[in-house]
Amino acid sequence: MISVTLVPVLEDNYSYILTADNGQCAVIDPGDGEELVRVLKQKSLIADYIFNTHHHSDHVAGNHAVKSYCKCKLIGPESEMKRIASIDIPVNAQSALTFGGEDVQVIETPGHTSGHICFYFPDSKILLSGDTLFAMGCGRLFEGSAEDMYTSLQKLKFLPGDTRVYCGHEYTLANAQFCHHAAPDNQDITNRLKEIKKIRDNGAPTIPSTIEEETKTNVFLMAKSAEEFASLRTQKDNF
Ligand SMILES: [Zn+2]
Repeated sequence: MISVTLVPVLEDNYSYILTADNGQCAVIDPGDGEELVRVLKQKSLIADYIFNTHHHSDHVAGNHAVKSYCKCKLIGPESEMKRIASIDIPVNAQSALTFGGEDVQVIETPGHTSGHICFYFPDSKILLSGDTLFAMGCGRLFEGSAEDMYTSLQKLKFLPGDTRVYCGHEYTLANAQFCHHAAPDNQDITNRLKEIKKIRDNGAPTIPSTIEEETKTNVFLMAKSAEEFASLRTQKDNF
């Protein structure tokens, strides 16, 4: 099995450190190299890999520092190779990738960026969703259309319900407030908003959520068409 350690970095980003039973270790989206190296040292860990979901600097700025410290290999989206320096293992949906003795599925999820990928670990039931799927939200459309993002989210929506979702930012409270605004009569959303307020009042992370929670309370995943999704995304951009 794979364990996940959440590492808050920058203003509201989450990086993650994965450790597997076979001793392998990976750093996910190191937005702040100094902080990741500090946590690795504190835990006496040396990463074998870095995984990048997309090219934005708050996800890749620490690649160099972590690579220098760990001498590890960088895994990233093949289609963003020109925009992420020093990818050693470019991957796409066809790649046969393993970590910690487990299969890792690369899911191509364009929308936030054109080459964004998510990493899915079916055995450990983990989804690293980057800036595609957030708890009760989804990424902004910087490089893709609403249709692209809608299609990407559909791929994630049908993963097993007990899959734990580890996303790239702590945006959950603002997302929950928007979901409540968009679907005021949805009791699951109202209840989750209350829970999230409590968690954030205590300064704790709201991550991970699960695919099941998201399919019940994330209005972007609940959208029944690309048009409905597009309308929600525009409303959220102006919320
Ligand atoms: Zn991003």
